[in-house]
Formats: sequence, C-alpha cells, structure tokens
Amino acid sequence: MLTPSYPYGESFYSLSGKYDVTVTTDKNQVIAATGEEIGKPVIKGNKATHRYKASDVRDFAMEMNPNYRVISSKVKGIKVNVYYSEEHSKYAAALLESGIDSLALFSEKFGKYPWPELDIVTMEGWFGGMEYPQLVMISPAGDRPLDWAKSVNAHEIGHQWFYGIIGNNEYDEPWLDESFASYAAALYDGDLNELKVAPHADSYYHLSSQISDFTDRADEGGINAYYSINKVESTPSSRNEKTVPNE
Ligand SMILES: [Zn+2]
Repeated sequence: MLTPSYPYGESFYSLSGKYDVTVTTDKNQVIAATGEEIGKPVIKGNKATHRYKASDVRDFAMEMNPNYRVISSKVKGIKVNVYYSEEHSKYAAALLESGIDSLALFSEKFGKYPWPELDIVTMEGWFGGMEYPQLVMISPAGDRPLDWAKSVNAHEIGHQWFYGIIGNNEYDEPWLDESFASYAAALYDGDLNELKVAPHADSYYHLSSQISDFTDRADEGGINAYYSINKVESTPSSRNEKTVPNE
C-alpha cells in the first residue's frame, strides 16, 4: 500500500532498485540527480537529453537550476559535488568540506558508502535539509552560520546509511533513521555527549508514533512535537542554531 505524501517529508518507504532515467530539458539546466550521468548530454536545438543510472537505491531525486554552480572533490574514490546558487555561494566550500569529512567518518564508523557519487544541493525552503539516495538538499532559510550548514549536511549524509543502506521504514518508524542521523551529525560535530531529547509535554506523541500521528495534527502542534521528539535538542550554546527542523 502506498503511504500518503506529506509536505513534511518522511512519507516514503521503498525497496531498493535500479534506475535508468532519461530526461530532456532546456539545455541550460544544470542538473543534480541520484546515480551517475551516463555519457555526455545529447544537444538538439535548445534542448539537452541526459541519462542517469543508479543501482541499489530506494528512490530517485533530481534537482535542476540553470544558475547552479558546481564545485567537486573526491574522498575514498567517491565524487562529491556541491550544486549551489549565487545566493548560497558562501556555504559552498563549507558544504563540500563537511561532505568529504562526513563520508570519510561515516564510512569508517558505519560501513562503506556503496555508491560512486554524492550530490549536495542548496535550495530554497524552510526545512533545513532533506535526504534522498546519493543526493541531499540543504535549505539555509535566512542567514545561517556555516557550522549550522555543515551539521545539517552531516545529518542528511548520515541518512545515506540510516534509511538508505539500512532500509528502515521512514513512515512507520521515523524515529529510527532520524535518531541515527542525529547521532551521525553529533559524531561529526564532536558533541555526542551533548545529545539529549526531553519527553514531549503532550503524552499523545510518542517516539514510536507513525509519522501520520504527527502530521494529522500538524496545525495543532503535531509537527513541532515531531521535530522536538525526533531531533536532538540544542544545548544552550553552540547548538542553538540547530533548532530549525531538518528532515
Ligand atoms: Zn533527518
């Protein structure tokens, strides 16, 4: 049965599969996508046709913007790309650095990152960050410190293992991958001993609730309850900026 889609994320649970995706779009588009691009795009007039292949992934995500700039590096044979718009250019180097460091750290602690590429993409949005296979979206709403962006990036990259590789059900048990992704970010931040989550004041909300228990009552505080239960609470000083939600 397909689970309903919620605007708050966490709506998906899929078995892993192989994707072979061909997309034709304006040739000026700069595209970040799950998997790797096969060959060069085929240009006809003002259109370009791109082909992507991905293996053993649970989903396929794509983001494009004609104004994206790209910086890249490699770690452990994995190509890491940061796609960013001009307004987010101040985050680009920090995202590439934390992407490289997170992949190296998590590969050592959790097991090898099994894909040849990872895309980190900045975008508009309120949600902080969101995870997809081989692609993470980072949305620095407003002016965020670089440390905030690096930590959110580490959280989203943690999701490559915790739901991506492990394959837990994000819909029925969202706390499983969220808590491990928050653990991964704290490992990256070096403040594991500051991790704490207080019980929620409204006993209706449980750590083991399905995502729908929160989203069905989103406007009555359900979404805030979800974030406060599933996410790491800030300690008074350095983590204050992390209270913005990230999926
Ligand atoms: Zn998350």
